[in-house]
Amino acid sequence: MTTAVSADWVLPVDGPPLEEGYVAWEDGRIVEVSRGRAERHFPGAAIVPGLVNAHSHLEYAVYGGFGDGAPFSSWLALHIERKARLDLPAMEAIARLGAAECLASGITTVGDASYAGAAATACAELGLRGLVYLEVFGADAEQIATRYEANRDRLGGSLPERVRLGISPHSLYTASLELWRAAAELGVPIATHLAESQAEVDWIRRREGPFSRLGVAVEPVSLAELDAHGLLTDRIAAAHCVKLDASELELLARRDVAVVHCPRSNAYLGCGIAPLAEMRAKGLRIGLGTDSPASAPSFDLFDEMRAAILAARAREERADALTAGDALALATLGSARVLGFDSEVGSLTPGKRADLAVVSVAGSPYDPVEEPAVAVVFGGSPAKVLETIVDGQTRYRQGETTWHEVRSTASAARRRMLA
Ligand SMILES: [Zn+2]
Repeated sequence: MTTAVSADWVLPVDGPPLEEGYVAWEDGRIVEVSRGRAERHFPGAAIVPGLVNAHSHLEYAVYGGFGDGAPFSSWLALHIERKARLDLPAMEAIARLGAAECLASGITTVGDASYAGAAATACAELGLRGLVYLEVFGADAEQIATRYEANRDRLGGSLPERVRLGISPHSLYTASLELWRAAAELGVPIATHLAESQAEVDWIRRREGPFSRLGVAVEPVSLAELDAHGLLTDRIAAAHCVKLDASELELLARRDVAVVHCPRSNAYLGCGIAPLAEMRAKGLRIGLGTDSPASAPSFDLFDEMRAAILAARAREERADALTAGDALALATLGSARVLGFDSEVGSLTPGKRADLAVVSVAGSPYDPVEEPAVAVVFGGSPAKVLETIVDGQTRYRQGETTWHEVRSTASAARRRMLA
C-alpha cells in the first residue's frame, strides 16, 4: 500500500526544494518525491528528511545543569559520581525520555554513545533508528568482554534491524592503546570524543593540567600514535574536534575519519569553537550532534544548526561561512554519512527509508516562505515539529504523542541523582 504526505514545501536535501510537493512510500521505503498534493496535506509546513543526530547520549536526557560553570574536568567528575547512583532500569527510563525528545524534535536517527546499552533498548521501544555505540573505558582490554560483549549479548536478540550496535572507546585519555586495539579488532563502527578541551590536549601532549587529577584518566594515546598502530580508520566518528592542529586535521582527512560537530556543547563547556570551515575545506565527512543535556540544553537539532551557523559566521567573520542549506545538509545527509547510513537515510530519495519530519513554518518571521531552507533552519524548533515518521510509521504527532509515563519515570530517576 502506498502512503503519502504533502506540504507547501519538500526539501529532499540531495536536490532542489519542491514547492507544493509530496513524498510517497511503500513498505517503509520512499517510492516517489514529486510536485503535487497528497490526501494528507500540511499547509504552512515543510517536509524534510528525518534529522540525524550523529552524537547523542540518550542516557543523559535528565542530566541538565550538573556542574554548570565548572571547569571540564570537575564537570566530568560530577557526572561520573552521580551516574553511579543509577541502576539499569533507571538508565533505561532516562534513555526512553531521550528517544522521545529526539522524535519530538524531528530526529529519526541517532548515533548514540551509550554507557549501559539502555539507549538501544529505548530506540527499539520508541521507534527511533540508531547506531548505538557501547562505551568502554580504562586501561584493560578485558572491557571488551565485561562491558561491550556483556551489553551486546544482553541486547542482541531483542533489537530490530533499525537499531545497530557499535563500540565507543570513550576518548584518547580514558581508553588505553590496548583497549583501542581490541575495540578496532571487533570490526564494528567506532565513536569517540576527540580533542574536546584544552585540558585534554595538555594532558595528552604534556601530561599536565587538571586531567592529572581525573580518576578515570589512563596513560593517554595521541592521534599520531593511534595512527602509527593502524587504528585510525574510516570506521571512526570523532565528536567535537575543537582543538586539533593542522597536521591532525590533515591526518583525519587522510584516514577518512568522520567528525561530529557539536557547537552548543563546546560553547556551553567553555571548550571553544571547532574549525568547521577548515574541516569542510579538507573534505572531511562531517555531521551535527546535540551531545546531551549534560552539556547542551536539549536534543534540539534546529538549535544546533543555528549554533553551527552562528559559530561559523562569527569565527570566519563572513556571512556565507555556513548557509541554512549547508546546516540542514550537515544535520541530515552529513550526519548519515558519518554513521555510514547514507544509502538508507539522510535525504528524501526514492529507495531510501521513509524517515521524515514535517515542520511548520506558519507564523514564523519566515512566513510567507521566500527560501525554504532558511525558514526551516531559522524558524524551526521542536514546538514546530508536527509529525515525525520513521520507516513510514508515525512515531510522533504533535498534540497526540505525550509520553506522560516516560516523562515521570525519567524525572524520578533524576531525583535519585540529586539526592
Ligand atoms: Zn559526548
